[in-house]
Amino acid sequence: MAESIYSKGTKVWLEDKEHGWIRGQVVSCSSSSLEDGLLDLVFVDERGKELTMSATLKEIARNAARNPKKHLPQLSNDDIYDNVDDLIKLPHLNEPSILHVIRNRYESHKELYTYSGIVLVAINPFTDVPIYGQEVIQTYAQTAEKKRNELDLSPHLFTIAEEAYTAMQRDLKDQTIIVSGESGAGKTESAKYIMRYMASMKTNVSDVIHEEAGSSGTSVEYQVLATNPILEAFGNAKTSRNDNSSRFGKYIQILFDSDYTIVGARIRTYLLERSRISFQQRSERNYHIFYQLCQGVATLSESERARFGLDGLRTDLTDGNSFRYLATSASSFRIDNVDDAANFTATRQALSVVGIDSEKQYSIFRLLAAILHLGNIDIQHRRDVKDAIIDSKTDSALAKAMDLLGINAEQFARATTKKVIDARGEKYESARTVDQAVGVRDGVAKFIYNSIFDWLVRRINESLGESRGTGITSEEGSSEGEHRPETKFIAVLDIYGFEHFQTNSFEQFCINYANEKLQQQFVSHVFKLEQAEYAQEAIDWTTIDFSDNQPCIDLIEGKLGILALLDEESRLATGTDDSFIDKLNSQLKSPSSHHKAIFKDHLHGNEAFTIAHYAGDVSYNVEGFLEKNRGTVPDEHRDLLMGSTNEFLREVVEVGFNVGIDNHANSHPHTSKGANAKPDGMLSPRLGGTAHSNEPGKAVSGRKPTQCSVFKSSLLTLTEALQQTSVHYIRCIKPNETKTPWAFDGSLVAAQLRACGVLETIRITSEGYPTRWTYGDFAERFVDIRYSFLRLKNRHRRRPVLLLFPHPHLLQISSHHGT
Ligand code: ADP
Ligand code: MG
Repeated sequence: MAESIYSKGTKVWLEDKEHGWIRGQVVSCSSSSLEDGLLDLVFVDERGKELTMSATLKEIARNAARNPKKHLPQLSNDDIYDNVDDLIKLPHLNEPSILHVIRNRYESHKELYTYSGIVLVAINPFTDVPIYGQEVIQTYAQTAEKKRNELDLSPHLFTIAEEAYTAMQRDLKDQTIIVSGESGAGKTESAKYIMRYMASMKTNVSDVIHEEAGSSGTSVEYQVLATNPILEAFGNAKTSRNDNSSRFGKYIQILFDSDYTIVGARIRTYLLERSRISFQQRSERNYHIFYQLCQGVATLSESERARFGLDGLRTDLTDGNSFRYLATSASSFRIDNVDDAANFTATRQALSVVGIDSEKQYSIFRLLAAILHLGNIDIQHRRDVKDAIIDSKTDSALAKAMDLLGINAEQFARATTKKVIDARGEKYESARTVDQAVGVRDGVAKFIYNSIFDWLVRRINESLGESRGTGITSEEGSSEGEHRPETKFIAVLDIYGFEHFQTNSFEQFCINYANEKLQQQFVSHVFKLEQAEYAQEAIDWTTIDFSDNQPCIDLIEGKLGILALLDEESRLATGTDDSFIDKLNSQLKSPSSHHKAIFKDHLHGNEAFTIAHYAGDVSYNVEGFLEKNRGTVPDEHRDLLMGSTNEFLREVVEVGFNVGIDNHANSHPHTSKGANAKPDGMLSPRLGGTAHSNEPGKAVSGRKPTQCSVFKSSLLTLTEALQQTSVHYIRCIKPNETKTPWAFDGSLVAAQLRACGVLETIRITSEGYPTRWTYGDFAERFVDIRYSFLRLKNRHRRRPVLLLFPHPHLLQISSHHGT
């Protein structure tokens, strides 16, 4: 039986409704005479408030176990530990202790960064902090040879960047820095600082930028950095959480030659949010580029505006009322401290830097204008009936849009309002309802926009991946067999963190699926590190039984999992959201289903399904799943787009129609070294083989793979690429919901630390653990975090070893701590 961990004077954390956790201590600890082993404990917090509890020794010892019957105060560290730069240095590693350090560093010392073993925890300051300048970069860059703990430098993004750079040279291995966190936590800003670090440790980029401002810019560092404003203009938007929210995932590889100088970059993007094109929530906006364009041309003459496709308008371009697609966001047409017109200039400059000349730029902007005009096409009821009608003679928006798109207006109107039905070889037309026709019109707009985005990424890859005669092949894979000098890369993955909203849809489903994959990668990485260490110390670790999130991943991507069922339903002409959820329920909820622990009963009737994710249960509303998953346009519109007289549009939609198909025929999903694979595991172009498809003929015969199958295969390619690199982790944390500088909401932070695996995977390193400690002593330190304990047989009993992995079902976010 363990002794009590409490004695008079023991420092503890006491829960407090207002303050979350508050320090206190044991003031008395006495044996009750009534029952053997019962202790009466009196605690007092720093404000003098008393708390009395009694507990048996058994309860005290058990408090650390998975489901303690009684929650007893957890031990607090001495205040000399309040500012440690690495959480694993804490003698007591429990949630309140961890939160306290992070909070103290942030609030009192204005320190954004804290290590947690191999992870860098980054708290968003929501204000400019002068720690990213050229001098700071030089300071961190000079530490290359030394280890971070031998130097007295604060934890920083640059430490991670420098470690990656050093490791690339030392191990001759590609590196990935995974930046994760919820929306608004600071992922994109962090990723940019890291890129800037890479670009300027050898050259002073600010010099480069000054020298080359205005010119087309030849420095490759400058080109790599120019990708940021471009992707942000086209892929970021104001949301309720973040004024500059990335609506896509990004994996960018910065390429280095054998001298470890930057020679280029390659970008892969994931799942741009399309629904935003035609609709935005209140106080949100469409993609920045539309506002940049409108504000940017507002002051131009009519003839100059014509080059952008925005002439002949009777309304003012400087508010949201000209275009339906911008009108839903009219109240937030402008963002404080954002000058869209100035940003338009910056976007155009950046496009020039990556080699997209002004003529091409006009072509792009005219397509964007066409999208806006498309949204203004009027779709009316035919008198007395529900049938949709577009007046192709008088609709000026239709005329303008089709003029810009190079498509016959009459044909477009007809294809939009009528559906061609092919009944056993006999074709006839049936009318669409207004809602259906509007859906088709918006679908075309979304498709064109998404295609422009994909085209841009491909174009950037061509110009940055092929750069300067290094022999780096283009994404087209044409020069596979050619001589290729040794290049290495450092990649940055900026990808949405786990999302759990009031209402969750297809997007959240995909995002959380991606997070399950990354979590698995993270856990197995930590696991491997541990193994390596034990092997080194000759500790027998063969009895490890670790639980991971594979069951959840199986539920989603397995043979008869959610994705497979979704695709099956999406390919049926008769499939609907309702038939999809029926299928889910009948296949996955049946008593015989091995998924039933993860695919759960839900409280929302037949509109939603619930998944037990590693970071908590999430219910997904099925409305719109099929439409979003299909993500394509009707065949007639496909033909109209491909037959357009606008050559550039044809080039763009070709990219759009071919995403996910290009590799299908010649790349096997399970071999990263397939015919079309790059040696670095990055398949060309944007996506790898459509891994899941058991109907290859469909894709090859010109049918567009569904969004989720595209996403699934790109995730597969990503995980393969990650496996071939050394991975570094940055976990960004949003400290408050109001974007207030230096404000720290403990329960909000605790929930994020749990969701990103920081709390769960803080491992016990052998350092700092005196050998006299018992298992019970260890267990006590993890009170309330509810781990599954993995006991490792320690043959030599030199050091007790304990490895912690989360049991997914134990980690559902609960509200009882960190209030
Ligand atoms: P995410 O990509 O995680 O959604 P962002 O990187 O766009 O979040 O950050 C959201 C906002 O937070 C930024 O627009 C900026 O105002 C602020 N921010 C993030 N990181 C920093 C930082 N290191 N310093 C100052 N402000 C930051
Ligand atoms: Mg972002």
